[in-house]
Amino acid sequence: MKTSIQLRREIAELQKQLALAEQAEQQINAGDPEAIATALHQIQCRHNHIDQCDWEYGSWQKPTYAHTDYLKKAQRLIDSAADAGIPPSTALFFLTTLR
Ligand SMILES: [Zn+2]
Repeated sequence: MKTSIQLRREIAELQKQLALAEQAEQQINAGDPEAIATALHQIQCRHNHIDQCDWEYGSWQKPTYAHTDYLKKAQRLIDSAADAGIPPSTALFFLTTLR
């Protein structure tokens, strides 16, 4: 059985993760290409993010090949969603159902 201190620490950590997830959702709903590219990478990439796709070696300030590639995919998703008249977050949701 966990102590109340352990449970409070776990809850605090989950609240931090929830705040980050909610912030990412807001950025996706606003059509932020980098947020959408990050979500696409999380949904689609099945590689080791260090040795095989290089995502972990970069950042949006210092993008790697993977960042650039997923940014192009994000722009295609944004354009396709606009053509279909749906928000990018809805298009991303459908992708998560195909994992
Ligand atoms: Zn990856």
